[in-house]
Amino acid sequence: MQSFVELRQRLHRIPEPGFQEWKTQALILDYLQTLSASGGRVEVQTWRTGVLVKVKGTNPAKVIGYRADIDGLPIEEETGLSYRSTHPGFMHACGHDMHTAIALGILTHFVKHPMADDLLVIFQPAEEGPGGAKPMLASEEFAKWRPDLIFALHIAPEYPVGTIAVRPGAMFAQSSVLRIELQGLGGHGAMPHQANDMIMASAHLIMQLHSVVARNVDPQDAAVISIGKLESGVRSNIIADKASLTGTIRTFSDATMEKVTGRIRSIVQGVETSFDCQAQLELRPGYCSVHNDEALTEEFMEWVKSEGLASVSESGRTMGGEDFGFFLREIPGFLFWLGVDTPYGLHHAKLNPNESAIEHAITVMTKYIEWKSGQ
Ligand SMILES: [Zn+2]
Ligand SMILES: [Zn+2]
Repeated sequence: MQSFVELRQRLHRIPEPGFQEWKTQALILDYLQTLSASGGRVEVQTWRTGVLVKVKGTNPAKVIGYRADIDGLPIEEETGLSYRSTHPGFMHACGHDMHTAIALGILTHFVKHPMADDLLVIFQPAEEGPGGAKPMLASEEFAKWRPDLIFALHIAPEYPVGTIAVRPGAMFAQSSVLRIELQGLGGHGAMPHQANDMIMASAHLIMQLHSVVARNVDPQDAAVISIGKLESGVRSNIIADKASLTGTIRTFSDATMEKVTGRIRSIVQGVETSFDCQAQLELRPGYCSVHNDEALTEEFMEWVKSEGLASVSESGRTMGGEDFGFFLREIPGFLFWLGVDTPYGLHHAKLNPNESAIEHAITVMTKYIEWKSGQ
């Protein structure tokens, strides 16, 4: 039997982008083969590049779900580790290799030591984009084994190993993608009065967009508008006739998202009038917020403390996104931060989580799931 640290290192070598996790899927399926000799408790379905594994309970009253995301990121790894990525330009820089190894550990435990309830372990593709949770939830494969409760974790570089941080209620923000196309009139850089400059219009537009969070959102609430990309212009003496802006919007509530997007619509219309140009606005919803079930999360925090399995603290909210929120919108559960103690943050080319967190997480989650199974 391989250790879960070894499995994590094998996964670390083969990071793959969303919906292309074929080698990762093959590795998971290979590993499951080694378990299938253990009493025929394991049933497997694949869904695109994901895998759903059911471990049958001895006397099931419900299905307990556990989800791991499995995709990597388009980042060139700079850790210098012996087991660094063998896929140029890709890296497990968000710890999804750790998540996958932990899920395999939990699964293995319940194959060897069956509990009363059924366990569904979900290996979900494409968390980093375009998003695997939403279409997976809508799939026939998922419907067949739909869990009654669902849990997940995410590695947290800033917390030491042996600690867990979680928050009842909203923990990750919801997001929307913003795209604005401006069309004016090009011309000679020396004759601005004969043209209609879309770089000038963009500059005003961006300044006004940044006033929305400052002046329309309750300071006790939170929102972000970031324009991450602005494309315009050709060369120094040509006035730009077009500009294209894309950005992201983050809020914790639907109401704040509506308010912010409403203001953006008005501002874009205003720029169209004041700069006498054509403006097209496109708003595309991204991930919903991660909203942890309050009662279950509080109960979990108390339980971990009373069992002495980890030091537990209440985390802050993050404006980051996580598509696990789609599961939590339909199924009660929570996602928590697992301390992995490393100086580099998530999505950093030098991220190097402490692998002793793998055993820690497996211990906490197998004991917790066992306990929930008895309820
Ligand atoms: Zn990530
Ligand atoms: Zn992640």
